[in-house]
Amino acid sequence: MLNKPRKKPFSSGGYVYPPDAFNVTDGPFRPTPSFPAVGGLQEIVFRLENQGRYRSALDEVFNVLDLDPNNEHALRLAITVVGDNRSNQLRAQEPLTAAYLNDRRLDSIFTACSQCKTTEWVSVYCLHEGLLGLNYTTSEILPGYQCYDCGYVACRKCLDGASQNEDRLHALRIYRCPNCGGPNLKAAYPTGRLPRQMARHPEPVVQVVVFREGPIPPDEAYMAGLLERTSPDALEDGAELIGIPVSPWPNDIEKMAQSLLFRLRGERRLKALPEHAEYRLVQDAVGTRVYVAKLMMAPGVQALLKRHLARLVSGHGDDPRLAITIPLWRSLLRSDVLTYTQATTLDSMRESLSDGDHHWQSRRLHNMILIISTIPTSDVERARSFFRGRYMAFLDGEVHALGSHPGEVDIAHWIFCLDGVRQMVHLTFLPENVRAIPTVAIDLLTLRERIELGLA
Ligand SMILES: [Zn+2]
Ligand SMILES: [Zn+2]
Repeated sequence: MLNKPRKKPFSSGGYVYPPDAFNVTDGPFRPTPSFPAVGGLQEIVFRLENQGRYRSALDEVFNVLDLDPNNEHALRLAITVVGDNRSNQLRAQEPLTAAYLNDRRLDSIFTACSQCKTTEWVSVYCLHEGLLGLNYTTSEILPGYQCYDCGYVACRKCLDGASQNEDRLHALRIYRCPNCGGPNLKAAYPTGRLPRQMARHPEPVVQVVVFREGPIPPDEAYMAGLLERTSPDALEDGAELIGIPVSPWPNDIEKMAQSLLFRLRGERRLKALPEHAEYRLVQDAVGTRVYVAKLMMAPGVQALLKRHLARLVSGHGDDPRLAITIPLWRSLLRSDVLTYTQATTLDSMRESLSDGDHHWQSRRLHNMILIISTIPTSDVERARSFFRGRYMAFLDGEVHALGSHPGEVDIAHWIFCLDGVRQMVHLTFLPENVRAIPTVAIDLLTLRERIELGLA
């Protein structure tokens, strides 16, 4: 994908591609003659598109691109949805909004004009160019063209301006490449486009701090409108929005924002570390300068688990049962178990942070029932309150729901506690093997539960 730009046209199975010299980004989308289809995707996308439900159609495409950003089938379908006739979109039940059109997952299918650098479009014609003898030339009315000799892209507006003197007078427009003068203009392929939004990250966005030029703090509605355009994932994640007025606007907004964030952190108002943030200077709809800090939940679930297990091992000193127990604990770090744990934690934590409640998921993996809980506080007392004095009953319920009984399988329960800066993890591990060491997340038990279990 990151090959050197090709300076000559090249072809593959019926497709002829123009040179890459004027691509805006690395690896813009290139259709190929054969690609693996994602089962059922095309049917559902076409059905939604025919109903004018463009947003729902793109949501289906995004679900695939989230797992596989370069999936050809999904990108082809994205081209047909976004490139669908603009007048259809205006009458549609669900026209595409700016949040959809600016989405980062679509950057590779856009074509940008090399001349004005402002016109961008999605060229549906590239899906057919060169195939089945189709060949879109300047006799068709396309939004823009690409020179297959040098790769230059020009939108119609630029071409009409450039050819005003000679060809505009003729009934049949014959454009020439504004760059090399060649006649070989055809349907454009994607060049990619520069990002219009901030990146999407695997960790959920927990907070966004918006620094706006001027004396008035930006309100919630303003910030939501801004993020709708620049970082809709923050709204999807239910991130908390903090607005800070900046007047006068300093020369080095980055430095100033860092020191303000440092202060917020001292006041314990930050839910995540400034190191786990993405920063971007943008302009709002009326051209006011805005600096956005998007704070993500800390990564590193794996490191947290490893540290916790290491602590458990050292806490048991030279207990002879460790020889049997350590391999059982280690199974929690097997890559499939770890991958599941990591993904589930991020998923549930997103929900916990947005509604302030306990979320959990349970699943049987190998000979183990794995329960993952997330709790939006690192305060032990508060964490305990989420189980309402019935922690053991909670575990029992989960094990029974999966058709097992305690004593038949290993039961592992990870509890992740997070309130931004501080994160903590607890583990309950009840092994099937009675000779191994059982571990209970004792902090989460009420005194009464501890007495009942003989732990106090
Ligand atoms: Zn142009
Ligand atoms: Zn050219």
